[in-house]
Amino acid sequence: MAWDIVIAGGGFGGYHTARTLEKVLPPHAARVTLVNEVNYLTYTPLLPGAAAGSLEPRHVVVPLREQLRKTDLWLGRVSGADLPGNKLIVDSLDGRRHELRYNQLIIALGSISRTLPIPGLVDHAIGFKTLSEAIALRNRLISLLEIAETIKDPDVRAEYLTYVFVGAGYAGLEGLAELQDFAADVIELYPRCRVQGMRWILVEARDRVMPEVAPSLAAFAERELRGRGIEIRTNTTIERVADNFVTLKGGEVVPCRAVVWTAGVRPHPVVADLGLPVSQDGRLDVDATMRVKGHQRVWAIGDSAGVPDPARKGFPCPPTAQHAIRQGRLVARNVAAELGAGGKVRPFKYKTLGVFVDMGRQKAVASTAGIKWSGFPAWFLARTYHLANMPGNKRKGRLLVDWTVGLLFDRDTSELGAIGNPPMLDRDAAGANEPSPAAPAQLTAGAPAAEAPSANGTGVGDPPQAPAKPRAKPPRRASE
Ligand SMILES: Cc1cc2nc3c(=O)[nH]c(=O)nc-3n(C[C@H](O)[C@H](O)[C@H](O)COP(=O)(O)OP(=O)(O)OC[C@H]3O[C@@H](n4cnc5c(N)ncnc54)[C@H](O)[C@@H]3O)c2cc1C
Repeated sequence: MAWDIVIAGGGFGGYHTARTLEKVLPPHAARVTLVNEVNYLTYTPLLPGAAAGSLEPRHVVVPLREQLRKTDLWLGRVSGADLPGNKLIVDSLDGRRHELRYNQLIIALGSISRTLPIPGLVDHAIGFKTLSEAIALRNRLISLLEIAETIKDPDVRAEYLTYVFVGAGYAGLEGLAELQDFAADVIELYPRCRVQGMRWILVEARDRVMPEVAPSLAAFAERELRGRGIEIRTNTTIERVADNFVTLKGGEVVPCRAVVWTAGVRPHPVVADLGLPVSQDGRLDVDATMRVKGHQRVWAIGDSAGVPDPARKGFPCPPTAQHAIRQGRLVARNVAAELGAGGKVRPFKYKTLGVFVDMGRQKAVASTAGIKWSGFPAWFLARTYHLANMPGNKRKGRLLVDWTVGLLFDRDTSELGAIGNPPMLDRDAAGANEPSPAAPAQLTAGAPAAEAPSANGTGVGDPPQAPAKPRAKPPRRASE
């Protein structure tokens, strides 16, 4: 092998880089290593479906080993880089440190939820960026319904039946719409809750929902959500989050047990530890060809890179999968060109073709190549698009089966938060004086915190945050 190409991050950008390199590089010309903290790609646009139980969690991820047969998959966490020595530093799951030598390095480490200094936010809100969060949300919703059903006082019960989403971008809106749809179906099984009803609130700091789509489509989405009884509060922020209430701007206190935070993303924190130039928003500073400024052998793509947007001069590309995919494909060709395997290093020129926002209940809004769609045709288009884009025929087949089953049968209401978190064996009966053994190394040392693989490998077992803590006393409203 003449060259070592290392890709850091196996999400949309990293996966498509590796896939394209497999196609464009001559056989045995280079060793391509893909480093990722889990052995699958998360197909994020389908996370709302997994949260609502219309898709099996395993069917919204793509196993990297199955799809990338000519790439060396290296499971571990990128923790730094030795740029003068051309080495990427990676900690494997059992905590061993490795230095991966590269001739060309592509950074595609993605992003995490962007938080703000709001009291109680980190302790009480849940994000909606990873599979474990999506499944935890579903489990939490069911747990809250179960608890609510056992509560006699309707005022206290209302707390358990109120959901607040913060951030009305497409992730927040799709997540809210799908979960509300799910809840509207399953509440039929909870007689007390059904009589009382649920309350869903969408809080957005800007003056409208979904800045990603045209105002007319956003207005359609807003009408649809309001029609389902969802309260939409634009020009509103949250000021405090506790385990049983949230305070909105102006002092309004909303008693609730679930706050979902979907108010934007920021580059993965490790990006700042690589010693590479970053711009003000923390994304890696790259030129139009996606090469990191001042570093001939390093490239960056996706949510963690500030690739200049060909559609909006002076701005970076929006953090979307469609951009990360195109950047991945092009950066692979640029790297091949750089190594003399053909072609020229070219600038990124892609402009967004369209946007889909699936709202559950066979409704969506979409804008494709200037044409606006809403309702059922948009929903059908969105599903067809995701089916076409899901890597691998096996995954496509599984998606189709899940969607078909969803049309034929009722929703499943089992709360399976315990999967992957087995109870310990009975220590007393086994000899109480035995010291507690250390947990197996591979499940602790270096395991990624954001999407730590649970025993079943999907993060599905990550339990929801306990909803039943003692109640804090909500502060009085300013007007009281
Ligand atoms: C709920 C939701 C819905 C969305 N819907 C859409 C949509 O409909 N259309 C659209 O275009 N976009 C959508 N997006 C945005 C899209 O998911 C991102 O823009 C896209 O994933 C960015 O690709 P990426 O390759 O930069 O990062 P990612 O796909 O996030 O991949 C980053 C990879 O790096 C890995 N990683 C991170 N840190 C480390 C480390 N230290 N060591 C090793 N590996 C690491 C991660 O595990 C991950 O596999 C959605 C996002 C969310 C959260």
